[in-house]
Amino acid sequence: MNSARIQLFQGPGRPFESRTVPLPDRLHPGEILVEISLATVCGSDLHTVSGRRGAPTPCVLGHEAIGRVVASERPGFTEGQRVTWTLADSCGECPACTEWALPQKCLRLFKYGHAALNDGSGLNGCYASHIVLRPGTFVLPVPDGLKDALVAPANCALATIVNALESLPVPCATALVQGGGLLGLYACAWLRFRGVERVFCTDLSAERLSMVAEFGGIAMPADAQMKKRILEESGGGVDLALEVAGTAAVIPDGIALLRPGGTYVWAGMVHPQTALDLTGEAVLRKCLTIRGVHNYAPRHLGIGLDFLAAMQDRLPFEKLVSPPLPLAALDEALRLTESRRWLRVSITP
Ligand SMILES: [Zn+2]
Ligand SMILES: [Zn+2]
Repeated sequence: MNSARIQLFQGPGRPFESRTVPLPDRLHPGEILVEISLATVCGSDLHTVSGRRGAPTPCVLGHEAIGRVVASERPGFTEGQRVTWTLADSCGECPACTEWALPQKCLRLFKYGHAALNDGSGLNGCYASHIVLRPGTFVLPVPDGLKDALVAPANCALATIVNALESLPVPCATALVQGGGLLGLYACAWLRFRGVERVFCTDLSAERLSMVAEFGGIAMPADAQMKKRILEESGGGVDLALEVAGTAAVIPDGIALLRPGGTYVWAGMVHPQTALDLTGEAVLRKCLTIRGVHNYAPRHLGIGLDFLAAMQDRLPFEKLVSPPLPLAALDEALRLTESRRWLRVSITP
């Protein structure tokens, strides 16, 4: 086979176009051609498809996936190997890459699933049968024992949580996770794995809290009693709070529920409609640390896979991902994602 199938995004409100394109004749040094085994639909693609977030068109969307190496011009990678990869390709030379320890903010950043079809090989996204990984992308072999459905969401959702919760305050016995979606469930599981004793998880939707207990968290519906209960059960305020709700409306509660000296991590508000209703005084009188997190560095993906391998027999990660739909049904997969029936809808080419 020397061609790839892609689903081409033409712009908001327009259906995806199925297209067959040639595979590259040859790879450049450092590149790896991967056949995608399974991709999952990240919520951020819904923003792109609806027009809330801009994207160059036409392009191949999709950035969460796992696949097998078809051809490699990178030492250490051979045909047939199962791999996952970072969603960002970084230059390794600019200040963000070398001095700031923020390769995901590389000054020459390339992001899979957000690049025009005429950029490079064109195989730049995961809603396709193949993808070309560039020389500055961190690629990680996947152990055979880890199922595709567990690994596919790791290179966006899970790795972001590992980054967000890499350094915890000392002590950190209690935590609050604001948002019961996929990131919230990963956060509950990861914090418990890191030894945090009590992890409260809030969400406006009681249904979204239904799996919190299975991932080690304590479900707290965001009702009138929520703040009082968390303050009581945490002994006066949590050590750490994490925002993965995607809305600024939860921020005043997070500030109120932290103990003095606590840490607040923001990782969900990745859109402009997030003006804060907050006083500076509320932050400084409590001596809070606030940290913003966007995406992650290569090491966080490796830590995420190790975590999945260690916990896959004890936590129901497979319940987070739908049975796969065919690539040609991408429109349907996006509608299913919007319906929130599954935390991740999966697609197989
Ligand atoms: Zn994503
Ligand atoms: Zn760079």
